Amino acid sequence: MTSSAYLRAANQPPPLEGYDLFSENRPLVEALRREGAAWAEERCVAFGRLVGGEPLELGRLANEHPPALRTHDRFGNRIDEIEFHPAWHALLRLGVENGLHALPWHEPQLGAHVARAAMFVTLAQAEAGVGCPLSMTFAAVPALRADPELMAEWEPRFTSLAYEPGLRPAVGKAGALCGMALTEKQGGSDVRANEARAVPVSDTEALLTGHKWFCSAPMCDAFLVLAQAPSGLTCYLLPRVLPDGERNAFRIQRLKDKLGNRSNASSEIELEGAWARRLGEEGRGVATIIEMVVHTRLDCALGSTALMRRAVGEATHHAAHRAAFGKPLAEQPLMQNVLADLCLDAEAATVTALRLARAYDEGDHAFRRLATSVSKYWICKATPPLVAEALECLGGNGYVEESALPRLFRESPLNSIWEGSGNVNSLDVLRAMEREPESVEALRAELLEAAGGNRHLDVAVADLEAELADMIDLELRARRIVEHLALCLQASLLVRHAPTAVADAFCATRLGGEGGRAFGTLPRGADCVAIVERHRPRLDGGQT
Ligand SMILES: Cc1cc2nc3c(=O)[nH]c(=O)nc-3n(C[C@H](O)[C@H](O)[C@H](O)COP(=O)(O)OP(=O)(O)OC[C@H]3O[C@@H](n4cnc5c(N)ncnc54)[C@H](O)[C@@H]3O)c2cc1C
Repeated sequence: MTSSAYLRAANQPPPLEGYDLFSENRPLVEALRREGAAWAEERCVAFGRLVGGEPLELGRLANEHPPALRTHDRFGNRIDEIEFHPAWHALLRLGVENGLHALPWHEPQLGAHVARAAMFVTLAQAEAGVGCPLSMTFAAVPALRADPELMAEWEPRFTSLAYEPGLRPAVGKAGALCGMALTEKQGGSDVRANEARAVPVSDTEALLTGHKWFCSAPMCDAFLVLAQAPSGLTCYLLPRVLPDGERNAFRIQRLKDKLGNRSNASSEIELEGAWARRLGEEGRGVATIIEMVVHTRLDCALGSTALMRRAVGEATHHAAHRAAFGKPLAEQPLMQNVLADLCLDAEAATVTALRLARAYDEGDHAFRRLATSVSKYWICKATPPLVAEALECLGGNGYVEESALPRLFRESPLNSIWEGSGNVNSLDVLRAMEREPESVEALRAELLEAAGGNRHLDVAVADLEAELADMIDLELRARRIVEHLALCLQASLLVRHAPTAVADAFCATRLGGEGGRAFGTLPRGADCVAIVERHRPRLDGGQT
């Protein structure tokens, strides 16, 4: 071995860093323009350049140094604080200062949801954990509308672009973050089983007592909490610090030791007569919090889209720069097939997530109602297998932490669990179909836009109609129905908006039965090279 070969590893790709994470995501750029946020392109490009630099390393650091709970100070006083690595603060600051928690409320204009969605997909590639408080703060604002007084008081804090960590009375803070505490030990999906009790102390205030089994981002300034009031389950806004500066009776018992999402603190808490203000009518807690849940579901779809994109970016980049058996992996037909197959799902997720975001911009409740649950279910479900296969594209390096793929892999099941796990989401789709038939009509109209564009899609839509008309065993068939809806929606978007190579391969394999059960099974004739080249991120502004 020569000394230079000893110093420099041969046949290893250059690190995928120092590039524009937004502009190199071509389906995302196109979707931003198409779905009504072309005005935000310059901002997204600047953000993409920023995130493709130091934040990639910050993401690693924030996960290597997970948060720690400090229950007491050195004198024995109860403080219930979380200590984070500076990398976490830097990333959360980046998100807040760029409005990822608030853009549509801070700058209400058509396309603001789409612009935020594109930036969310960009930041979550560097680090997914900060997405949790960003998303909950974003989603709390529509729920707050149930109470104009609370809205007037808290909205300016939740939509401020100032990041001000630390427990202090919200009234003196330049900006505030919001979490949610619904899940209890005996039930998460079934929140009506909540046992935490609310004892009203005035018309608008109550003292809350009980536990919450999952409460993420407990360093937030306020939480939307469900508790049983005399007239039933009710939503409350609970501040961490009382207006007089005393800490509220919100005790953090311990932090969860999680599979992934390790940069983010998820806690178990006890409320010991914690002071809270009622949000919405007493007994109407679920109806009040649902607006928050819906918006966080949108973000689950965006977050998983980001994980897919990062995984596809890493895999296509690696294959372009790594050779085996005498030529680059990217020139080996079987690897081309695997990579192209991965790209199809990443692109389908991207076009779907941004189309969905447009429905929020347009206040298109009918489309949003069904499409949110359908897209959340399917995009989140499709992510873990995609990340696992992308990891394998890097060979042994992909199994090693430094490649970032293990972190993506551990993160990948999460979005499917929270905000309505797979089954619960599927049952929600049935509920929407039954109670809000206009939501089915809205989705149908979207599918018809692509009628005649691809024969597999036309057949799949006809089959879907038969599936929807069959009212027997609906609950048992819920996942089948949702998957069918999701694939038709994705295909209809790709047929209209993606290059033919992408749309044809997607429809043939995801709808036409021409694919296999593992990635890398696209049929002969699929233009794998074109698909992969479209998705491969370039370093140096497109040179390598
Ligand atoms: C990392 C992390 C962070 C979290 N952060 C928060 C937070 O900040 N705030 C918060 O409130 N919660 C939080 N959660 C909790 C999360 O929302 C719940 O775990 C989730 O809602 C599921 O509830 P559960 O765990 O009680 O499972 P269960 O409700 O017991 O469900 C178990 C399984 O049964 C399925 N199921 C449920 N009902 C049905 C049915 N009728 N038919 C068929 N299948 C069904 C579900 O889909 C699921 O697969 C967090 C969870 C995780 C993992």
